[in-house]
Amino acid sequence: MDDRSTLNDRLPVIVVGAGPAGLRFSQRLHALCPALPLHLIGAEARAPYDRVRLSSALAGDCDWASLEQGWALPEHPGLQWSPGVKVTAIDRNAHQVVLAGGDTLRYRQLVLATGSTPHVPNIPGTDLPGVYRFRDARDAEQLSARRVRSRRIVVLGGGLLGLEAARAMRRFNTDITLVEHSDRLMSRQLDITAAALLHEQVRALGLKVIVDDGALALHGRHAVQSVALRSGRSLPADTVIIATGIVPNTALALASGLPIGRGIKVDDQLRTGDPDIFAIGECAEHDGVVYGLVAPCLEQGAVAASVIAGTPARYRGSVDGTRLKVMKTTVFAAGAHPDRSATGAFGSLIFKDPANGHYRRLLHARGRLAGVLGVGDWAELPRAMDAVQQGQRIGWGQRWRFRRSGQLWPATESASVAAWPAGTTVCNCTGVTRGTLSEAVAAGCTTRAALAERTRASTVCGSCIPLLESLLGAPYRPEPVRGATPLLGMAALASLVAALITLLPGVPYVAEWSSQGWRWDALWRDGFIKQVTGFSLAGLAVAALVLSLRKRIARLAFGHFALWRNLHVALGLAAVGALLLHTGGRLGHGVNALLMGIFLLLIIAGGAAAVLAATEHRLAPAQAKRLRGGLNWLHILAFWPLPVLLGFHVLKTYYY
Ligand SMILES: Cc1cc2nc3c(=O)[nH]c(=O)nc-3n(C[C@H](O)[C@H](O)[C@H](O)COP(=O)(O)OP(=O)(O)OC[C@H]3O[C@@H](n4cnc5c(N)ncnc54)[C@H](O)[C@@H]3O)c2cc1C
Repeated sequence: MDDRSTLNDRLPVIVVGAGPAGLRFSQRLHALCPALPLHLIGAEARAPYDRVRLSSALAGDCDWASLEQGWALPEHPGLQWSPGVKVTAIDRNAHQVVLAGGDTLRYRQLVLATGSTPHVPNIPGTDLPGVYRFRDARDAEQLSARRVRSRRIVVLGGGLLGLEAARAMRRFNTDITLVEHSDRLMSRQLDITAAALLHEQVRALGLKVIVDDGALALHGRHAVQSVALRSGRSLPADTVIIATGIVPNTALALASGLPIGRGIKVDDQLRTGDPDIFAIGECAEHDGVVYGLVAPCLEQGAVAASVIAGTPARYRGSVDGTRLKVMKTTVFAAGAHPDRSATGAFGSLIFKDPANGHYRRLLHARGRLAGVLGVGDWAELPRAMDAVQQGQRIGWGQRWRFRRSGQLWPATESASVAAWPAGTTVCNCTGVTRGTLSEAVAAGCTTRAALAERTRASTVCGSCIPLLESLLGAPYRPEPVRGATPLLGMAALASLVAALITLLPGVPYVAEWSSQGWRWDALWRDGFIKQVTGFSLAGLAVAALVLSLRKRIARLAFGHFALWRNLHVALGLAAVGALLLHTGGRLGHGVNALLMGIFLLLIIAGGAAAVLAATEHRLAPAQAKRLRGGLNWLHILAFWPLPVLLGFHVLKTYYY
């Protein structure tokens, strides 16, 4: 060993940037080579934290301190950590970095994990007070202080970050408008249908959304007061959040002569043009791709650590996958995007369930899954995203099942995470598989915290927590549909009244000798009152029919479907009340008996279907869905003879 290599052996591996990529790299390298000196340098003057959950902390869903849990470097004399220190230059010949104060540090190998900074559009007014970015904890703290007094917020950018920012800033008395320059929200991830569904759900929560428009200038005297849009509109604003994309931090690498594209160019071992300098995370460009999500950054960190530790490893690129809750709505996308692929390159399988706000689209090529996107909860989602990442085959049976039920696997397999194949990724952020989790459970991890501590699953975005709980034995609990409680009450009451009318004798007429002042049987004896109740009943039935069209005509997309469904059931309940007033619960004879029977069947089948919809989250999902489908069909079938029978009934009443 010559002097130089002995000297190099004592030098640390220096990591620039303590974001998720830098931290994951450091943790992994330390685990592989505990004796290797390592120095992590970060410009942010705080302990490493979970950037992905910043919006949750801003929204008040978790406390700020929890962002640091699981993100600490192990205590070890060989591990040095310098917060609040900026690296300003790299001297490649001297194998050293220059710090902001002018000090230099020699490195054995250098890892650039400098991430990215927000892209700020080149328009006037972006430096006005009241204009914010949303990238790090400092931005989030400033926004948190601002949240209390903001009344009109404009968020520029309708992508993942803009939606997260808007969600986090929501307050009951704050007006929030999202402005997106493309034709839809989350255009990088979603197709038109999924984006329209998301748009509707975001709007239903009280946010305004403007698409196909962009900011021309931000105006204000001492602070921002309005946003001028390309369309000529002006939006009043006391706070503007810029979420119009990110730019990889490549300045250090560029100044030291490393090859740069959109990011710092790296090979399959995450090496830059200099064999002793690596780049990982959002600042790196691998095979022409710069990733903007956390999972690929973590993957790159782990591969670079293996390479430096001397373990053979190769990075082959990641399948970008997003799964996030946007204002209570799950939005997901992974792999190929239909708009960015050559026409006809992919086949599509689509499942729609507008009643429950579900839309799922699978892309496949040569018999293998290539992409998935959609909106709405889906128990199989992690498994489906993993299948896309692995490019798994999709058989004809699966295609048929997916089109019919929106499920790729039989219900018995989907319900339990424990039944998933061992190689299936459960935590997409950290890449932890079902097999690894099961091993941890077998080794004594019986709580979610213990599983997270041992495997790091669920420590980034947290969306796999229900899956971990399912693996630990807690059953998967889907959420009830919107407005489930009034739906259940009204539907159960309507079905009950209809069933009682069917089973019990009619309300008796008042005896001729009765001394009562008011004779209730006037309802059925007085021709005028009979007409009023009869036409009210017909009117209610027609109104309920019109409302039911919301489900079947795609263009009728305004208002949340749950509201329409509840109105439809309310009208059904009112109709059964009108039926009781009109008939006194007597079933009648001939055409009238047929009409009455069909009407009661309509109400009972519809009511039972609605009761199932409201309670489906508590039942075995597959059976409940099948049963509800059958009842819905019975409800629709019972409707068809009604207009004809009603016509006969009117004719009979007036002409005979
Ligand atoms: C609010 C928010 C929500 C998000 N939500 C999601 C989500 O739901 N799902 C998802 O997949 N992704 C999400 N992301 C994206 C995710 O956070 C990033 O992909 C990830 O943080 C990138 O990690 P990184 O380590 O490459 O870079 P960064 O996290 O940007 O870290 C880079 C670090 O390097 C430091 N640095 C830069 N230059 C220097 C220098 N010269 N000297 C010293 N230090 C330096 C920076 O200060 C920074 O701390 C979100 C991002 C934000 C901001």
